[in-house]
Amino acid sequence: MIIAGNWKMFRGPEPSALAGLDAIVCPPYTRLRECVEAGLMTYAQNVHWESEGAYTGEISAPMLLELGVAGSLVGHSERRQYFGETDETVAKRTRAALTAGLKVIACVGELRAERESGETENVLRRQLSVLEPHPNLVLAYEPVWAIGTGLTATPEMAQEAHAFIKSLLDAPVLYGGSVKADNAAGLLAQPDVDGALVGGASLDVESFKAICQAAERTRS
Ligand code: PEP
Repeated sequence: MIIAGNWKMFRGPEPSALAGLDAIVCPPYTRLRECVEAGLMTYAQNVHWESEGAYTGEISAPMLLELGVAGSLVGHSERRQYFGETDETVAKRTRAALTAGLKVIACVGELRAERESGETENVLRRQLSVLEPHPNLVLAYEPVWAIGTGLTATPEMAQEAHAFIKSLLDAPVLYGGSVKADNAAGLLAQPDVDGALVGGASLDVESFKAICQAAERTRS
């Protein structure tokens, strides 16, 4: 069971408040060092595919590894929606990060219109077609209509999508999309839900801890 907190472009909690928690944190780049030094399992929110070069504004896998960062998110829907991320660039980032020795949480998920028109499986098939299994690759199923909206997939919807994803690619699958302290247990109880990628609720220490505790109870 893996719980990861995506702080997005928020400063986020004080790392010391999360000490000892069995969870991954994905702070903005400026707080990576602080989180690593606090002993937290720390991932970046993105990583470039080249190890260095004329790519203003980007950060490479060797740079993250030098800081003690353990992994990176790749292909978050906000990157796909607002920053031109495509399946091809997701594949390049993922492959380069894994080869360099980072762990990767690669995000997939359908838009609301795609779910409503029955395209969910086709979208997931397309997004996954560029990825290969790897021991350090974890997937996150994040239906875009559920991210930051307060709308959550039902545990049954999550289970159905996760089982479909696993039929295409053998990897643990986290659920993401408005996971909160009060809905985490139901989602995490599903057999193919291997954890959660938590956005908004990870910014609040007590909420994030409650989600980690729900995961702990599911483990035992
Ligand atoms: C996310 O940022 O990956 C996410 C799932 O956000 P939220 O939990 O706020 O929907």
